[in-house]
Amino acid sequence: MIEFRTMNSEKKRILILGANGFIGSSLVWKLLKETDYEITGVDLSDNKLGCVLGRERFEFFKMDAIKNKADIEEAVKNSDVVLPLIAVATPALYVKDPVRVYNLDFESNVDVIRMCLKHKKRVVFPSTSEVYGMCPDEAFDEYSSTLVLGPIEKERWIYSCIKQMLDRLIWAYGNHEGLQFTLFRPFNFIGPRLDDIRATKEGSSRVITQFAHNILNGKPIKLVNGGLQKRCFTYIDDGVECIVKIIQNKDGCADGRIFNIGNPDEEHSVKELAEVLVESFRQYPDYAALAEKAVIETVSGDEYYGAGYQDAQRRVPSIGQAKNILGWTPKTDFKTSIKKILDYHLLGKDDEACL
Ligand code: UDP
Repeated sequence: MIEFRTMNSEKKRILILGANGFIGSSLVWKLLKETDYEITGVDLSDNKLGCVLGRERFEFFKMDAIKNKADIEEAVKNSDVVLPLIAVATPALYVKDPVRVYNLDFESNVDVIRMCLKHKKRVVFPSTSEVYGMCPDEAFDEYSSTLVLGPIEKERWIYSCIKQMLDRLIWAYGNHEGLQFTLFRPFNFIGPRLDDIRATKEGSSRVITQFAHNILNGKPIKLVNGGLQKRCFTYIDDGVECIVKIIQNKDGCADGRIFNIGNPDEEHSVKELAEVLVESFRQYPDYAALAEKAVIETVSGDEYYGAGYQDAQRRVPSIGQAKNILGWTPKTDFKTSIKKILDYHLLGKDDEACL
């Protein structure tokens, strides 16, 4: 059994399962920087945690949360707020390995949610913008939009369906059995640590990293089904700022609620993303030649992901809840986000380097 350091019991302790993930690692950094909370992190690896490792208020356990249930339960007991961030969130994998997605994203998180219920801990759970699926609304609303998924043979929707079920279960535990909870739904968060730009394999990472990888390696950029589908790209720092407000939960304002977290003003097509990225590469003298050689082509969704793929054409968040209740608005525009991502990968500049 793992031993937890006794920290300052006056301070709130936050447990982040999946602390080395894209959202997890940024969140640890932000919480250390902007709050006085004690943080416990658990993950299989620690490569994204940089200089937060070894900080006084951060206790990290490098282990497999799935195989160490008793330790995780101990960690839950030892905390005030739990964020179960461990999940596969890559569309290519929903189609290629849906059973793995189910086992990890559903089964293991249900266990953690039940631990929170049993030990009366607050859970802040990552739902997803994917739950809205192919909803035709102009902007997706947490309380009135319909959640629209394709047929079962379109395996892409397994992730959406899993998260919807978890949302419904948490909501039910909250309403009927007293679980203290908040659900949040990230809309296409982007940032330097999203996926490893150099180790990316074709069709295995999120669109922005895939495109940057292809430009770097002289491979054609592939627009799935022409690239006219749109996303609202949200810079990670804005996203985690909202999650911090949810964790702070001033006067209980986030209790029992759902929050979309996204940037509705930065809706761009995938084609536009490809063009802006190529143009941005031109601004880096050592990489401008790669931009000159970049080729953009079109591929069908079936060819790129497999027959189980189906796409959402638009995904715009309504963010009134986050604005009015949490006092949050996104600040970083699309071009600035891209510049920060390329500065990190091409110049080694890192906003999260040191506290
Ligand atoms: N996409 C693309 N080319 C790629 C990778 C992704 O055109 O090499 C498209 C994908 O079909 C989707 C959008 O980019 O419409 C965003 O994909 P991503 O994997 O980032 O996540 P999603 O927003 O679909 O969850």
